[in-house]
Amino acid sequence: LPKPTEIKNTYKVVLCGDSAVGKTSFINALCDGHFSLNLPTTLGQEKFRSITKTYFRRADGVILMYDVTMERSFLDIRKWLQDIEAGAGEGVPIILCGNKVEMRDSSDLRSKSVSFRDGSRLALEIGCIFIETSAKAGTNLEETLVSLCREMGARS
Ligand code: GDP
Repeated sequence: LPKPTEIKNTYKVVLCGDSAVGKTSFINALCDGHFSLNLPTTLGQEKFRSITKTYFRRADGVILMYDVTMERSFLDIRKWLQDIEAGAGEGVPIILCGNKVEMRDSSDLRSKSVSFRDGSRLALEIGCIFIETSAKAGTNLEETLVSLCREMGARS
């Protein structure tokens, strides 16, 4: 058992979401302010779906990311939620994160985009915090982490 004086200062945070929503970019931009337009995407992730549950085990917090320019990734959020709840249990702090927000208003989008309203509605329903980010423009990256830390701190 931890001594009463010991304060938990290490948290396990899992960043998840469909392939190519910008998870790697988000981490890179946060860690060294670097953004690369030509990251190789991690291929074949779907077939590892069954083991993702174990990634969530003992997670203290989750950043669940979709791409505001890719509706599919938003529709898949509920699937991710099931995995999170199965692995980390209900009530784990989650930040719903809509990435690539700087690109939403560009005219050459291939699919329907996801509005701020859509995102905040879903977050309200799930009961989590909602933030829109851009790993490219550097928007709300630290804010996302700070919000999650606040939630995790309130729980421990
Ligand atoms: P991951 O598979 O979720 O790790 O996604 P990546 O970080 O590999 O990003 C996939 C693609 O989206 C890459 O070409 C990135 O350059 C691009 N990308 C990531 N974040 C942003 C963003 O905020 N804005 C724009 N316009 N592109 C982004």
